[in-house]
Amino acid sequence: MRCTVCRGQAVIDIPRHHSAFCRDHFFEHFRSQVRRAIREWDMLAPGQRVLVAVSGGKDSLALWDVLLDLGYQADGLYLDLGIGDYSCRSLEACQRFAQEHGATLHVVAVEERYGLPVPQLARANRRATCAVCGTTKRYTFNRTARQLGYDVLATGHNLDDEAAALLGNLLHWNVDYLARQAPVLPARDGLVKRIKPLYRLGERETAAYAVLRRIDYVVDECPHAVGAKELLYKEALNLIERQSPGSKQSLLFGFLEKGRQFFGIYEPPPLRPCAECGEPTTAQVCAQCRLVRRAREAVAALKPLRRDAPADGEEER
Ligand code: AMP
Ligand code: ZN
Ligand code: ZN
Repeated sequence: MRCTVCRGQAVIDIPRHHSAFCRDHFFEHFRSQVRRAIREWDMLAPGQRVLVAVSGGKDSLALWDVLLDLGYQADGLYLDLGIGDYSCRSLEACQRFAQEHGATLHVVAVEERYGLPVPQLARANRRATCAVCGTTKRYTFNRTARQLGYDVLATGHNLDDEAAALLGNLLHWNVDYLARQAPVLPARDGLVKRIKPLYRLGERETAAYAVLRRIDYVVDECPHAVGAKELLYKEALNLIERQSPGSKQSLLFGFLEKGRQFFGIYEPPPLRPCAECGEPTTAQVCAQCRLVRRAREAVAALKPLRRDAPADGEEER
């Protein structure tokens, strides 16, 4: 396999582009796809401060790496979800990256901020862990970015993530999500501008980039994601992609260029400040404040039981 650009030994082939690249030309390909995403969607202007939400996985660390490489003023934000060993190793990966690159990493711990880690917050609310995790991430990313004065918040969503989310939204005709699904969500009423600069690059490419750039990332998925619908949609798209390279890209890019406009009549509901925390919400009290309040109530309801529990050191028989 030869590099399409220089005919040297290729390290990766990209069937949907009918091309293969050596290490250096692959880096050039990766950077140029990110530059193109930023330019075409007006994501970032030189001099703007961007906060990259980093999970410790390949995509978000690759994103942080490429933004720094392109000369952007990019800091990291790690949200410690409190999911056992997985969260500890993820934090370490982000800290290692920050240290090696002399970059700034902000860390927010869910347990410290909201009283309970994500799995317990979910249990106390009798809600699915992934749903509570999603709400907590969206809320905390936005609040942190705004309070620290960042212009833009970036996430590591790649082509595979975006195509799978699109397929899910189409299967269920979630028309309001379809109207909003884009690599850029503009700032409005207390919401910081959100961007997905990796949306033109597939998961195989972000993994190859991270490995070739020697980024030490956490390989495992979150233990709670097993069986998530998103993984099923990714598998289905991979099956189609193998038989017909370019399908994923054609689904997503075609939607962005030709399909999304038909859902454009959707007007996002007006936002107002949450009565408790001041963050933008469509309700009186925002979803995050309601999560935290219900968790406090659930913990308080358990307290009287504790008085009957055996004292420290006493054996229960
Ligand atoms: P996910 O929702 O897990 O697929 O992650 C999508 C994107 O959200 C990642 O690429 C990161 O940019 C960001 N992200 C996920 N988990 C975290 C976390 N614990 N801390 C900071 N950012 C995260
Ligand atoms: Zn080459
Ligand atoms: Zn609130």
